[in-house]
Amino acid sequence: MRRIAIVEDEPAIRANCAEALRRHGYEVATYASRPEALAAFRTRLPDLALVDIGLGDEVDGGFTLTRELRAMSATVPIIFLSARDSDFDIVAGLRLGADDYLTKDASLPHLAARIAALFRRSELLSAPPATEDIVERGPLRLDIKRLTADWQGKRVDLTLTEFWMVNALARHPGHVKDRDALMRDASIVVDDSTITSHIKRIRRKFLALDPAFDRIATVYGMGYRWGE
Ligand code: CA
Repeated sequence: MRRIAIVEDEPAIRANCAEALRRHGYEVATYASRPEALAAFRTRLPDLALVDIGLGDEVDGGFTLTRELRAMSATVPIIFLSARDSDFDIVAGLRLGADDYLTKDASLPHLAARIAALFRRSELLSAPPATEDIVERGPLRLDIKRLTADWQGKRVDLTLTEFWMVNALARHPGHVKDRDALMRDASIVVDDSTITSHIKRIRRKFLALDPAFDRIATVYGMGYRWGE
């Protein structure tokens, strides 16, 4: 059974989420504070973590926890819950390594759908397709087994979501991938602004290694394309 950790200081939200996810067949552990969750994670990692940003008197406790959990595992899916639908929060959370975010007014079925999508992606990871393990496109090298990306021989530090998005784009250079195709290929269910945030962060990571990097083109109104 999949184990989900819910880290949320508001008892009603914590209980509602936990009950809904248990009904979906998940094992759920709940924590009201960051130290409590961190202590539990050190003993055993969850299969997925749902993390509120403001935790008690720690206004950004969820962000700190995301960073700590990401340091323990590069792959555990993390969704953060935001009461504040602000670009700043979303970009900050994703930059710290979260895979997805939901605002607190999202419905429980919507939450369950996002979680199922992240788990589907984990399954894909544990059973990678028996196609090529290495994708090479000019200076780009993707290792599908190790989930690593290199550009001009240097490691690009991508999160899993970013890795699969780069894979989706680079596999078919010159082809435009719209947002639906990117979500399908990366097995994520997110909204348009999240895809845009992911693409921005991917570009930044390549640009940090290579200021001339310009392979990811935005095709206005259509999506994105990996340049040949
Ligand atoms: Ca809170």
